[in-house]
Amino acid sequence: MSLDFNSPVFEVIRDEKKCIQCQVCARQCSNKVHLYDEEDNVVRADDIKCVNCHRCVVLCPTKALVIKKYPLEFKENVNWTDAALKEIYKQSQTGGVLLSSMGNPKSFPIYWDRMLLNASQVTNPSIDPLREPMETKVMIGRKPEKLEFDAKGKLVTNVPPQIELSIPIMFSAMSYGSISRNAHESLARAATELGICYNTGEGGLNRDFYKYGKNTIVQVASGRFGVHKEYLNAGAAIEIKIGQGAKPGIGGHLPGKKVGEDVSATRMIPVGSDAISPAPHHDIYSIEDLRQLIFSLKEVTAYKKPVFVKIAAVHNSAAIASGIVRAGADAIVVDGFRGGTGAAPTRVRDNVGIPIELALAAIDQRLREEEIRNEVSLIIAGSIRNSADVVKAVALGADAVYIGSAAVIALGCHLCRSCSTGKCNWGIATQEPELVKRLNPDIMYKRLVNLASAWNHEIQELLGGMGINAIDSLRGNRLMLRGIDLNEKELEILGIKYAGE
Ligand code: SF4
Ligand code: SF4
Repeated sequence: MSLDFNSPVFEVIRDEKKCIQCQVCARQCSNKVHLYDEEDNVVRADDIKCVNCHRCVVLCPTKALVIKKYPLEFKENVNWTDAALKEIYKQSQTGGVLLSSMGNPKSFPIYWDRMLLNASQVTNPSIDPLREPMETKVMIGRKPEKLEFDAKGKLVTNVPPQIELSIPIMFSAMSYGSISRNAHESLARAATELGICYNTGEGGLNRDFYKYGKNTIVQVASGRFGVHKEYLNAGAAIEIKIGQGAKPGIGGHLPGKKVGEDVSATRMIPVGSDAISPAPHHDIYSIEDLRQLIFSLKEVTAYKKPVFVKIAAVHNSAAIASGIVRAGADAIVVDGFRGGTGAAPTRVRDNVGIPIELALAAIDQRLREEEIRNEVSLIIAGSIRNSADVVKAVALGADAVYIGSAAVIALGCHLCRSCSTGKCNWGIATQEPELVKRLNPDIMYKRLVNLASAWNHEIQELLGGMGINAIDSLRGNRLMLRGIDLNEKELEILGIKYAGE
């Protein structure tokens, strides 16, 4: 066996004066970092196993623990960074593809932070959301060209199916299997209480969750796991997943160890077998093929459910989106390169795709130019971090956003980025019964409700500040945005003016 050049990434520092040897850290750590030494009555740490999930730090009753970056310094080199060296050590030892979880952590520009919102002053007065009504409801679905009413004022236009969201936010696709049953239940219950939707991801829908159907988007991905007529009819809408922001152009892989009896029954695959979804849908090689799938799904649901098509934000997203509208989709979902995932090849996650802000602006602009923007709803995803990101997304042209990473952070995720190991100490990205129990859906769904409600208050304040009393009136209103620290080309693509103009 070759020499292991890998060094710890984190160092566990225990304040022995504070430590009472209660062993909470040893019991809580699924990575077996902390071990109690009976002979010396001390708890010791094996730094190399630490993933920095903070479970021990948060639960230590005496706050005796601190986790720091391991102080292994390489000679300074802007080209051969510490990270580059460590990756080579790892790959030269294992011969394997590097895997990562959660979104792209690289220092690409975050355009949300380079756009600023407007506020009314003197003319067009601002609105106080505490005293005046403020509408944050949105309808997702294909809109008719015009509405027609009969002599008595009754709507006679046949409006395509819509879903109503109380706020322009949904929970992103996360499959049962990649996340635990309790995490899945927390999302479903929170969506129901909030009057929004959560998304099954590509793992099918366990029958116990059919009762949340009105608030469920059911996904159809390339693996078609758990897809059948009842499933398609169980949700409020269907989403065809073509691509995902964290790993555009490749399929998915749920390791067999995460496929227990319940996940196996839901996915309709044998217990313990790897669930591998292929990179493409093997029946889609053109927009015409996509149209066939969209209409097959509409047919099987009696034209009562909107059909979304989800793509990753890539170089020619605008042209692809135009084709998707023409294929008959009711909504387009675009997932940016910072979108989270349970597992993705590191090279793909960090180097493929484009920022969602640029993709959104380009798609909205192209659909407007082609006069088809009204025919479709536009939903975006890929690291929406707060309510201001939501408002900026709407001003850039989105109808609604999906949040995934923010939702799991609300459930306790500390972004240790080791979901692919299945040992999530917070009970989220795991199927191990003892770890799953750590996440109590009765408590945790309320954290999601709190998060979305807090964002809703802030959205109303931001809208009111702009003198706008309905989120619908902001959609695509780029005059409400100004750029900062952006070049001419970026301003042109975003379709916004520079601050001061
Ligand atoms: S949880 Fe804290 S107090 Fe308890 S053994 Fe670990 S470090 Fe010591
Ligand atoms: S879900 Fe769990 S394993 Fe994944 S990043 Fe968050 S804390 Fe870590």
